[in-house]
Amino acid sequence: MNAVQIDQLKQQFPLIETLQTYQETFWFTPHRYPLKEALEKVGLTAKDVSEAEARLARFAPYLAKVFPETQAQQGKIESDIVEIAHMQQALSSAKQVQLNGTFWLKKDSHLPISGSIKARGGIYEVLTHAEKLAMQAGLLKPEDDYSKLDQDSFRAFFSKYQIAVGSTGNLGLSIGIMSAKLGFRVTVHMSADARQWKKDKLRSLGVNVVEYASDYGVAVEEGRKAAEQDPHCFFIDDENSTTLFLGYAVAGIRLKQQFEQKQIKVDAEHPLFVYLPCGVGGGPGGVSFGLKLAFGEHVHCIFAEPTHSPCMLLGVHTGLHDQISVNDIGIDNVTAADGLAVGRASGFVGRAMQQLIDGYYTIHDERLYELIALLNQTENIQLEPSAIAGMMGPYYVQTSPDYLALHQFTAEQLQQANHVIWATGGGMVPPDEMQKYLSHFQYK
Ligand SMILES: *Cc1c(COP(=O)(O)O)cnc(C)c1O
Repeated sequence: MNAVQIDQLKQQFPLIETLQTYQETFWFTPHRYPLKEALEKVGLTAKDVSEAEARLARFAPYLAKVFPETQAQQGKIESDIVEIAHMQQALSSAKQVQLNGTFWLKKDSHLPISGSIKARGGIYEVLTHAEKLAMQAGLLKPEDDYSKLDQDSFRAFFSKYQIAVGSTGNLGLSIGIMSAKLGFRVTVHMSADARQWKKDKLRSLGVNVVEYASDYGVAVEEGRKAAEQDPHCFFIDDENSTTLFLGYAVAGIRLKQQFEQKQIKVDAEHPLFVYLPCGVGGGPGGVSFGLKLAFGEHVHCIFAEPTHSPCMLLGVHTGLHDQISVNDIGIDNVTAADGLAVGRASGFVGRAMQQLIDGYYTIHDERLYELIALLNQTENIQLEPSAIAGMMGPYYVQTSPDYLALHQFTAEQLQQANHVIWATGGGMVPPDEMQKYLSHFQYK
């Protein structure tokens, strides 16, 4: 985009100026779209999501065998949800607003195998690919006990194939760990944001890690090009993959089950708000799709991005989606929230999900550090900076009269609301790194 186009865009969308100056801001979707039509626009269905869940169930015996940390849940990759009342109180005091409803933390930060939300989509896509190859070769049938995949003969079979992906770190970790375990050759193209320990960890598993001095977009592009050279190489396309998206979407069914067990109601009188950190959009987009299928119009999904990488807000707000990047408006895409350091949003997710996402806000890096320190202090839960971006969501909902009016929320409904802050990463961060994260913010 050239300077003239940007100026015109700014006239039309004054919010861009706020973004350009790295100020925290929020924007709620100004219309309420009928749910059924909005869901149809996604182009995927509840049936697709239940097939994804069934596929994960087929792999569960294998996962339980090769990843002992999944045994307690019989090979199911799922996280706990915990109430965080102390954090809610601490935030209320800090903001000098009594934040209503019940606060929950969905701990995808501590998902087994790779310790981030990417253990949903990333692992699911590798498993889907492996199943397809093995079935085409006549080595596997849906009714088999998939624990048989844990054999040298299967590893030898998969070693004929390669998997590649571009990542800021966590997707590479998920895909690298899962692919290497099955026996695939795997290459992870890492952007400059990726933490050293993630690269070290992958290399220790035999993963080929290619490092770039540039951001995520470049790592993905280079990965895509390298993969095209090799017909036996499968490129996992974080920007466009519906398979990844469906892996994430299974979270909707799972959260519904967890709420039923805890007897938590979600209906018109008990609205559910879910706050999701957003990078390229696949993770939060897929989870939101699953949530809308599971809870219908009673769930409200809000995305959170760093002030330095507000790609989804920019793309959806302007309607330009992946035709605009944060660099186009002079934003640097440099953030401590490495999992969210994405300058251009997924075109697929933005277009497919824009009528289903309720709002977006941005958050400063320093506030992320402050919030992880506060969560550690009040709840003894440790997250990486990206993972806590959703924590300010309830504040924006509660203090936005236009949004509350759009949905005609009553005081009583807000009292009875549940707020799920989706914590997306941190479980595998080495202790010394975590200590650095937690001590970054100094209380005065
Ligand atoms: C990848 C990631 C996200 C966001 O997922 P996207 O699919 O990139 O939007 C959020 N938090 C963490 C910790 C991540 O690694």
